[in-house]
Amino acid sequence: SIVVVGSLNMDLVVKVPRHPVPGETLLGSDYESHFGGKGANQAVAALRMGGKVRMIGRVGNDGFGERIKAHLKAQGINVNATLCINSPTGVAFISVDKEGQNAIIVSPGANSRLKPEHLSPIEFEGASVVVLQLEVPLDTVRRAARIGRESGARVILNAAPALPLAPADLALFDLLVVNESEAHAYCGLAVDSPGLGLEAARALRERCPTVVVTLGRQGAVWASPEGEGYQPAFEVRAVDTTAAGDAFIGALAVALGEGKSLAEAVRLGAAAGALAVTKPGAQSSLPSRLEAEAFLSA
Ligand code: ADP
Repeated sequence: SIVVVGSLNMDLVVKVPRHPVPGETLLGSDYESHFGGKGANQAVAALRMGGKVRMIGRVGNDGFGERIKAHLKAQGINVNATLCINSPTGVAFISVDKEGQNAIIVSPGANSRLKPEHLSPIEFEGASVVVLQLEVPLDTVRRAARIGRESGARVILNAAPALPLAPADLALFDLLVVNESEAHAYCGLAVDSPGLGLEAARALRERCPTVVVTLGRQGAVWASPEGEGYQPAFEVRAVDTTAAGDAFIGALAVALGEGKSLAEAVRLGAAAGALAVTKPGAQSSLPSRLEAEAFLSA
């Protein structure tokens, strides 16, 4: 099974004619609420890819938290270790202007209250893959990686958002997945091509054995002890690139958990990422395994 330790958010989205300046009040559209948070998105992505998924995290007792848990549970994700605590839920306040430009304020809320001591090895039993991001405290991510390894799981870090990570931190993970801007943050290379992506992956391999760099519509590259490779992106009509990375990670985790090679796992990830950009939204745009397999064999 797949264990995801990470963030769960409610995204509150309002359309505005333009973004307000300090001190100004503007009228926006009716707001929309969407389920989000990289942790929850990746849990749903893995579930749709056919994974058995357990989500470990924290939500608040402000009404959003119970909705988030119920929503994940109804889809089939085990949320027994996602507790509703006395705090606000993680929320992203998103305004979108006429040009489609976002301005986002993230209030981490309950996500920041997930502490290392809240993680219990029992919750990792039977996990083949543990999936982590950086939207919960770093100490918690470190402990999740240690428990995951001790449980015999393969530990994947999606190092997003980019935070100052020490080289010793990166050594805690079996597989690191970064996008172009995170690759830049972690190794200083302005990655904008597969060639530079591969250079970044090689540099990061000094700290973590296997590195995958996703390159948006240029696909993804990887470097591992078994070798290196490039997976071009599949050509699709992009509508909304939100959650492409989350779709990619979920598919990668499930494929690796099934014992597939890294090349095969990245190919399924690229298919899932491509399908996700053809639909608006985050969790609502994540493709099923059937869709991804049909897309790959078309
Ligand atoms: P993030 O959302 O984390 O920035 P990327 O944009 O790199 O991640 O997307 C992850 C993967 O999704 C890419 O490696 C690629 O395979 C696929 N993907 C992303 N954008 C597109 C696109 N416009 N067309 C086709 N595939 C895409």
